[in-house]
Amino acid sequence: MRLRNIKGSREMIAASEFVIHEEETRAGTWHALFGNENPLHIEIGMGKGKFMMSMAKKHPHINYVGIEKYSSVLLRAIEKMEQEEHPLPNLRFIRMDAENIGKVFDRGEVDRIYLNFSDPWPKDRHAKRRLTSGEFLTRYEQILNPDGQVEFKTDNRELFDFSIESIKEKGWKLQAVTYNLHQDQKLSEGNVMTEYEERFSAMGNPIHKLIAKQ
Ligand code: SAM
Repeated sequence: MRLRNIKGSREMIAASEFVIHEEETRAGTWHALFGNENPLHIEIGMGKGKFMMSMAKKHPHINYVGIEKYSSVLLRAIEKMEQEEHPLPNLRFIRMDAENIGKVFDRGEVDRIYLNFSDPWPKDRHAKRRLTSGEFLTRYEQILNPDGQVEFKTDNRELFDFSIESIKEKGWKLQAVTYNLHQDQKLSEGNVMTEYEERFSAMGNPIHKLIAKQ
């Protein structure tokens, strides 16, 4: 996944019509950018963008923004968009570290945050970097609509348990939890698999999912 140094990837990203550049983003202007008042759903750490593209096709009345830290990975998502006969009008990408997410979205501007197979950062000293840490939940509180949700999927049980604790400690509500998404009739309805989900479920790993609300 992390082909960090593909030559020219930054230049290709700079030239792409599908990318909104972090320095150009202005919190509070996303509805204007998409030209409608549809809900805004984002994926943090989208990887090569399969999930975001499938969701954008399936839900044309929702606007999507896929966020990815590494240029070389984002490039794969751009290439996929370019292969589409009709590029998706309701999907854009940003290359950025999600630590700065509060600068890109306004208070209450985001209706849902997807976290899929986020990096586990197993060492205790790196816990703050986990996308479900208290520090990140505070950042999400700044951009989520009061009714907005975080949906998190992973096959990593340690990260999942950490996330449940972190959500509870923060005083958020857990609306749904499953340790085996693909066997859960209700939660698996309409499930769109991510690249990592396909890979890990094919290996027989159960997929865990939670939905949380502040
Ligand atoms: N969501 C995809 C999936 O399920 O197939 C990709 C999962 S991959 C394990 C995690 C991705 O999150 C990587 O592409 C990584 O570069 C990205 N990422 C990790 N930390 C991030 C951060 N702080 N901001 C933005 N992206 C991040």
